Amino acid sequence: MTDMRPHEVFVPTTPPEDAQLRYIGRIHTPWLDRKECPRRGDPENGPDCRIEVFEPWVPALKNIETFDSIEVLYWLDRARRDLVIQNPAHTGDVRGTFALRSPNRPNPIGTSLVKLISVNGPLLTVRGLDCLNGTPLIDLKPDRCAFTDKPRSGE
Ligand code: SAM
Repeated sequence: MTDMRPHEVFVPTTPPEDAQLRYIGRIHTPWLDRKECPRRGDPENGPDCRIEVFEPWVPALKNIETFDSIEVLYWLDRARRDLVIQNPAHTGDVRGTFALRSPNRPNPIGTSLVKLISVNGPLLTVRGLDCLNGTPLIDLKPDRCAFTDKPRSGE
């Protein structure tokens, strides 16, 4: 759990309801510490990162290689879940949690649009992530904006 900054407010929380989320994989990135981690991923110039999909979900990757860009959803497992007012170092002001993309939120779901570099069995190489090494993966979807199918061979 991260320390609190001046003016931040937390609320007492009850144990969360069980949403029955499954971790479907694990994300491998170069960042071990939040201070090193970028606040937002860079799909053009960020480092290559690996997404490992666990069995039995590997067959669900079929055709994913036809997309240039995919949306990755992950569980920010080292975030606080009780902050309602936050004082992020980079904004210079105090804001409500829902006016921020801070990892600290009641349900710490992170999303990034990443460039899909390659798919090799259960391993995807992508560029544009901003999460710590070992972050649990909760979903993968084609980029809803681009939704560009790469031409299939023979077309
Ligand atoms: N791109 C995502 C989004 O917009 O939903 C996450 C943005 S959040 C500002 C990214 C920051 O979350 C990183 O800079 C790091 O400080 C923090 N972070 C990354 N992985 C985390 C994890 N597994 N648990 C808690 N905090 C994490």
